[in-house]
Amino acid sequence: MRTPENWPPIGATLEAELPCPVCGEILGQVIAHHDRRGKRLKTVGCTQCGLMRTDPLPTTDELRRFYESEYRRSYKGSECPSSKRIYRAALLAAGRLRRLSSHLPATSKVLDIGCASGEWLFMLKARGHSPIGVELDSAYGEFGRREYGVDIRTQSLDTLQSPEHAFDCITMFHVLEHIPDPIATLRGIHRWLTKDGRLIVEVPNINSVHQNPAKRFHHAHVLGFTERSLATAFQASGWECLELSLDRYERNILAIVRPQDTNATQDPGLNVRTAPPPTPLATSKAAMVRYYLRGATYLRWLERMSQFTVEFRIASNGQSPREVLHAVERKYR
Ligand SMILES: [Zn+2]
Repeated sequence: MRTPENWPPIGATLEAELPCPVCGEILGQVIAHHDRRGKRLKTVGCTQCGLMRTDPLPTTDELRRFYESEYRRSYKGSECPSSKRIYRAALLAAGRLRRLSSHLPATSKVLDIGCASGEWLFMLKARGHSPIGVELDSAYGEFGRREYGVDIRTQSLDTLQSPEHAFDCITMFHVLEHIPDPIATLRGIHRWLTKDGRLIVEVPNINSVHQNPAKRFHHAHVLGFTERSLATAFQASGWECLELSLDRYERNILAIVRPQDTNATQDPGLNVRTAPPPTPLATSKAAMVRYYLRGATYLRWLERMSQFTVEFRIASNGQSPREVLHAVERKYR
């Protein structure tokens, strides 16, 4: 293994320490040497599918130990969600419910993988669905069970005790970028879903021009997906893409997929933008200048300031977590 002292320079293309976990390509281009906090972190971009990844990737056991106890304390600053985070999660969940309702027939059985404290489960339950969640962080799982009365299992997906093909819909919001072997995970999900069910996945868009280039890489995000690398991952793991779309400001990629029909070929009409392989420009000074010259950067800051004001008011008015969720759910019904 190369040490930081002899890492290849940014822009160099050479054999990575491990092959790309999506397409198997060994050649990678060095994209960055640091994470968003200035800590040493080597990121390479796959020259074939465009996936960005920490090189070398950590093992599954190393990551599991990290998520069971350290992740949210290190990155969210507390063992349980704060009032402002509850409100933010409630807004996100309500927006997702509105956006995805056409894929959720009445009284759907839903499995949410990496459910955190369970605000999405709460919203689903309030609309008559039957959701359960799995979450490795024991404190967040306990919080959701106690405050929202939702069914959260503190365990990994591979130890879930449930009949096979029991769920009409499986959701994974901001989970896949944390998993070093996404193909094995996506293949393993098939057994939990009904034959005509839907898998809904959202990941950050590593190519977003609205993301501050200095904040792009993250120790906990071992993978950075583009539309093309995400579509490649689904194709390689037996899923047919029905929809692949970017949200406002192109910060996240939302994918709606179903089990691949083995008799059919992949829909060639799927609108996947074939982004070129990553280049060091993604984190260069020129990219930084372009980010700060873009009007949308300041518009988004203004929107966030406005949201902080509302979050502060919510955090100060003494409502319980369940009352905050009820209020948001009723407002967006
Ligand atoms: Zn690749």
